[in-house]
Amino acid sequence: MIVARTISELREALLPARVAAKRIGFVPTMGAFHAGHLHLMHTAREDCDFTVVSLFVNPTQFGDPNDLAAYPRDDVRDTGIADNAGVDVLFAPSVHEMYPAGFNTHVVVAGVTAPLEGAARGVEHFVGVATVVSKLFNIVQPHAAYFGQKDAQQVAVVRQMVRDLNFPVDIVVCSTVREHDGLAMSSRNVRLSAAAHQQALGLSAALRRVEQLFAAGERETFILLEHAQREMISRGINTTDIEYFTAVDNTTLEPVAVVTESPVLFVMAVRVDGVRLIDNAVINGANHGVRT
Ligand code: AMP
Repeated sequence: MIVARTISELREALLPARVAAKRIGFVPTMGAFHAGHLHLMHTAREDCDFTVVSLFVNPTQFGDPNDLAAYPRDDVRDTGIADNAGVDVLFAPSVHEMYPAGFNTHVVVAGVTAPLEGAARGVEHFVGVATVVSKLFNIVQPHAAYFGQKDAQQVAVVRQMVRDLNFPVDIVVCSTVREHDGLAMSSRNVRLSAAAHQQALGLSAALRRVEQLFAAGERETFILLEHAQREMISRGINTTDIEYFTAVDNTTLEPVAVVTESPVLFVMAVRVDGVRLIDNAVINGANHGVRT
């Protein structure tokens, strides 16, 4: 595996693959690799001839400097994991390489960025995400890019941006990888104490409750959410720690009152012992509820 620290090193490392007309798969990440990241890397490897992973903790998408400072980093461990996963090139640039002095262009996606994470974290969050993903797409020029369903709104934002700005990239969404007990894998999980981990199981339990009630015939999102929230609270989560838990259209992210044919995203952000966790499930009215 080649580790490229600069854009020119990356372009050089990619040249043979490009000349050989290989299909280049790209997985953007912020590191602290876990099985969720590995799932994306393996899927990219299966689909493509050449796999590039980026490891960059993008400062512009963190509103809270404490959150950025607390973000787990272990480049040596991550490099070993990516190498073992069969990644061809790891692109690990510095902040200065990505944002040199005088950097002054931002990508603003409207609409799907407004609710949920946009409302909770501020509009700058998705400006940071859209700008860095645009830069990475232009730097790597992949044929396909792999994203996790775990960050469902990020997927909606990237899809909108790719459509609007005509990026020639196929967006592939990979299902959420979970711990054996149901907790969605996240780089932030390492900050959970054993007791907080138990409480955090309330998130996936709530989503299972939505699925159960949907399977039993309930279609009103208000009722599904109310029962699911009760499940969360019964597992020790405080109502005031639920930043949002709502049901929205999976593409437009507009609120949905009744589940019909179109896929509905049940999505939440919850603070557990000070750690901000997100999770979601897509309920597909047409095929009876598939959890992602
Ligand atoms: P991050 O390093 O947290 O920015 O995540 C990099 C990519 O991995 C994003 O596309 C995430 O959606 C994806 N990802 C994070 N956690 C999971 C998970 N538990 N299952 C699947 N994909 C994930």
